[in-house]
Amino acid sequence: MYGLGIVKGMGITMKRFFKKKVTVQYPDVKPVLPERSHGSLGFDFDKCIACNMCADACPNGVIKVDFTKDEKGKRVLKDYNMNLGYCLFCGLCVKACPKDAVYFKKDFHMVCYQKCDTAYHWDRHEITNSAEDLPVDNIRDIEGKPISQGV
Ligand code: SF4
Ligand code: SF4
Repeated sequence: MYGLGIVKGMGITMKRFFKKKVTVQYPDVKPVLPERSHGSLGFDFDKCIACNMCADACPNGVIKVDFTKDEKGKRVLKDYNMNLGYCLFCGLCVKACPKDAVYFKKDFHMVCYQKCDTAYHWDRHEITNSAEDLPVDNIRDIEGKPISQGV
């Protein structure tokens, strides 16, 4: 029948029109995300045992773990570095961590103006991000040569 397609299409439109909207006016309205959303990565300094498994699991050399050893030869975390500018958010580091010290946060608003602002550094007292904290020796190109990370 002529026009049947239009009637069907309009029927679907009207049905959707009165349903609850799933979109929000971001950034004025922030969406409520599901519990297991993958946003930025977080780190808990007190849980970390400096085992380096997260850094070994990372395919992009995003993580650098600095540690010292105590008198019994046990590793003690000194500082922890992540350059999220190179992160794939694949979650392999989160899976590899035996202490849940590295985890996904719901925070997805990670835009910044400077490349150095994607590099995070944790020590016992604070989180910082600055160009000096880039784990430069960890990032390599396809031939294994270090990539210089300008600001
Ligand atoms: S999410 Fe993937 S790419 Fe990002 S730091 Fe973890 S292992 Fe590396
Ligand atoms: S895998 Fe977990 S405990 Fe081990 S160094 Fe990484 S964050 Fe720390």
